[in-house]
Amino acid sequence: MKTAQPAQPGRRSLLKKTLTLSALSVTGVGVLSLPTLSFAASLSKAERDAMTPDAVIEHFKQGNLRFRENRPLKHDYLAQKRSSLAGQYPAAVILSCIDSRAPAEIVLDAGIGETFNARVAGNISNRDMLGSMEFACAVAGAKLVLVMGHTRCGAVRGAIDNAELGNLTGLLDEIKPAIAQTLYSGERIGSNYDFVDAVARKNVELTIENIRKNSAVLKALEEQKKIKIVGGMYHLSGGKVEFFEA
Ligand SMILES: [Zn+2]
Repeated sequence: MKTAQPAQPGRRSLLKKTLTLSALSVTGVGVLSLPTLSFAASLSKAERDAMTPDAVIEHFKQGNLRFRENRPLKHDYLAQKRSSLAGQYPAAVILSCIDSRAPAEIVLDAGIGETFNARVAGNISNRDMLGSMEFACAVAGAKLVLVMGHTRCGAVRGAIDNAELGNLTGLLDEIKPAIAQTLYSGERIGSNYDFVDAVARKNVELTIENIRKNSAVLKALEEQKKIKIVGGMYHLSGGKVEFFEA
């Protein structure tokens, strides 16, 4: 890690701290309570393994706060690329929507090697998504499954509006149970984004139910407290990732 670029005082101290922590980690001294300082290298196995699922949630809450305050870590992507070449130890797998305005890694200020990302319109789970998430947790050791919906979701709106188009029709059908199960007394139409957002929240909850129901692997890991499965909503306005739990 090079620190040659002119840095603000805060940045300089962070870099210095990171260097110190890196040195400590070489000597085996525990530094694992401060995983947010890993921006100059991808997460190491030791760092990741020392994080509890709750610590991973907090890690990403802090990342989202940095994003919202426009003070993201100065990711050295090339260093992260190099340090993750021999192996990857991501802390989480994130199931989110394909919406171009909701890029999980950016809004959580995560770097290379930090998260597995599964994206599909409307963040629904199906067999292939479940298989991907099972790999992420049971094989690669991720501690958190985050199902992240977002406000003003076009897929959710399309489901409400009964949009039909090729293979999209079947995908939107996967979202429709959330419409029926959303308690909402206002106008239940696609142009009412208050309703769309309410359905999106319910859709996240149902996706999590489906994960538990259809993946014995993930359910067992959760029961063993090796992982947490949590929902969240990314608010396009304001940029907050609201975690439903914890
Ligand atoms: Zn969406």
